[in-house]
Amino acid sequence: MKEIIIKDKRKYLTRNYPFEDLPKLTDKKLCIHCNEIITVGDYKVYQTEDGEKLICCPNAPECDGTVIDWFRLD
Ligand SMILES: [Zn+2]
Repeated sequence: MKEIIIKDKRKYLTRNYPFEDLPKLTDKKLCIHCNEIITVGDYKVYQTEDGEKLICCPNAPECDGTVIDWFRLD
């Protein structure tokens, strides 16, 4: 997978976030793949070989978690 550099992270997240409760870029979430607390705005975007773009854990590529693996802290 190759990393896509996102210039406007807020706009990209707003357009591509797969769930209804859009988080703020400053929100903290738990990534259950690397088991670390991550800041939403640090997300990375990777493009798969078939062209799909995934919102990935800030710890990618070491962590293979994506946005669906992030859980609320409370
Ligand atoms: Zn992770």
